[in-house]
Amino acid sequence: MSRIAYVNGQYVRHTDAAVHIEDRGYQFADGVYEVCEVWNGNIVDVPRHLDRLDRSLTELQIDWPMTRSAVEFVLRQVVRRNKVHDGIVYIQVTRGVAKRDHFFPADDVAPSIVITARRSSPEAANAQAEKGISVFSYPENRWPRVDIKTVALLPNVLAKQAAKEKGGKEAWYVDADGCVTEGGSTNAWIVTKAGALVTRPAENGILRGITRTVILDLIEREGLVFEERPFTLEEAYEAKEAFVTAASTIAMPVIRIDDRIIGNGHPGSVATRLREQFHTATDLQAV
Ligand code: PLP
Repeated sequence: MSRIAYVNGQYVRHTDAAVHIEDRGYQFADGVYEVCEVWNGNIVDVPRHLDRLDRSLTELQIDWPMTRSAVEFVLRQVVRRNKVHDGIVYIQVTRGVAKRDHFFPADDVAPSIVITARRSSPEAANAQAEKGISVFSYPENRWPRVDIKTVALLPNVLAKQAAKEKGGKEAWYVDADGCVTEGGSTNAWIVTKAGALVTRPAENGILRGITRTVILDLIEREGLVFEERPFTLEEAYEAKEAFVTAASTIAMPVIRIDDRIIGNGHPGSVATRLREQFHTATDLQAV
């Protein structure tokens, strides 16, 4: 089956899908994106993802390329046309195509939109979660506006690649105060020896993950102890558990940070339960 992508109003074969060489996303990383999980034939948390897309677009003064309901329709179409039962659907919006010039283009330049979908194996992801992952710390290398989900991900690419070369699956950013901000493409969490879940406040230094927000709802529902505060890398080394969250990973246990084994070296019970319970707290839209 050939994959289908949506590009600026048309459904095209994935292999032929392209944007112009003067698209500002290509030349300036002048664009934003969202990744929604597709789970069991449903798109997960569409309203929250589109609210965040709206915020990112507003912060960068980029217009919606089409109405929000049209985006929702195309999301479902792309998932359906690619027969994705489990995987992700990706939305990217850039400021559009214009002669290369740093200044914003004229008002008649329309934003570009691309939507793609990809299958992934829930069995493989669950097998990974049963083993847990290793993460490696990396000095914060990004601009201060990491709250905007922009496609300018080169710093994240470098951090994650450095982790991969050491045998890790994720990088954990550490700021000038020695505190963990977040992962290269995930939010970072620990569980203290006293059993409290800790994650950094979303006000600065991190992207406000949609998965993070769902986990906060679950924590409240389950009556778990929660502390929203920065934590240091040293504190993470000593934690009972650690895990990361993102739409593409849900809650993924961390069993090693740098050369330190976390807890007993196996996925923790809190992270594992949050992973198992995750979709009971999400908004699911059947495709
Ligand atoms: N932090 C960063 C830097 C990310 O890139 C992502 C996801 O791509 C997240 C956190 C998690 O966000 P979400 O839970 O919305 O996928």
